Amino acid sequence: MSAQELPLPWDQIDTVLLDMDGTLLDLKFDNWFWLQHVPTMYGLRHGLTVDQAREQLAPRFAARQGQLAWYCIDHWSQELALDIRQLKHEQRQQIAWLEGAADFLKRLQRTGKRRWLVTNAHPDAYALKNDQLGLAVYMDAVYSTHPLGAPKESSEFWPRLLRVAPFDPARTLLVDDSLPVLRAAQAFGIRWLRCIRRPDSRHPPRDTAEFVGVDAVTDLL
Ligand SMILES: [Mg+2]
Repeated sequence: MSAQELPLPWDQIDTVLLDMDGTLLDLKFDNWFWLQHVPTMYGLRHGLTVDQAREQLAPRFAARQGQLAWYCIDHWSQELALDIRQLKHEQRQQIAWLEGAADFLKRLQRTGKRRWLVTNAHPDAYALKNDQLGLAVYMDAVYSTHPLGAPKESSEFWPRLLRVAPFDPARTLLVDDSLPVLRAAQAFGIRWLRCIRRPDSRHPPRDTAEFVGVDAVTDLL
C-alpha cells in the first residue's frame, strides 16, 4: 500500500482545492444537458433526429475536449447557434449536489482548512449553479479557469493559479473527477490527490487509474 492509499494525513494539508462538476455536483446534469438536451435542441433547429444530431455533434465536442473552449458557454452558443446560457437557465432545477457533498463541506469548514473551488466551468455556469445551491458559502475562494486562460488539464494553468493565489503545493489536496486534471496537478507538484469514482450518480463506480479513488467526497473526512 502506497502512502497515497492511506487515509489522508490532514495535519499535513492546509489547502483543499475542490472541483465542482462531478466532484461536488452531480455530473448527471451536465451529461444529460450535453448528450441529450443540446442534441435535441440542435436537432429541432436543423431538422435532425436526436441520434443524427448527436452523431454530428460528437466529433465537434471531441475536437475541443481538454481545451478551455470545451467549457465555454460563449464558444458553444456561437458554434451551435443555440443560447446555451438560456437553455441551462431553463433547466436549472436539475442541478444537484452529489450525495453527502454539502455535509462534507460543512465538516470541512470546521477543520479550519482553506477551501478553494477551482473549476473549469465558465463563470456564468458557476454563477447559475451557485444561485441554485449556494456553494460559495462553503468556500474561502472560487477560481474559474477562464480568466486565467488555461484549463486545469494544462500544465500552464497551475503556475498561473499560484501567481494569483499563493498556496504550498506540498501541503495541498486536490479532489477532482478528471484524470487529465489530476495528472497535470501531480506534474506541477500538488502532493495530495484524490479522484472521484462516481461523478455521475446514474453510473457505476469507475476505475481511477493511478490515483486513489473515493466514491464521493464524504469518504475523505
Ligand atoms: Mg469535474
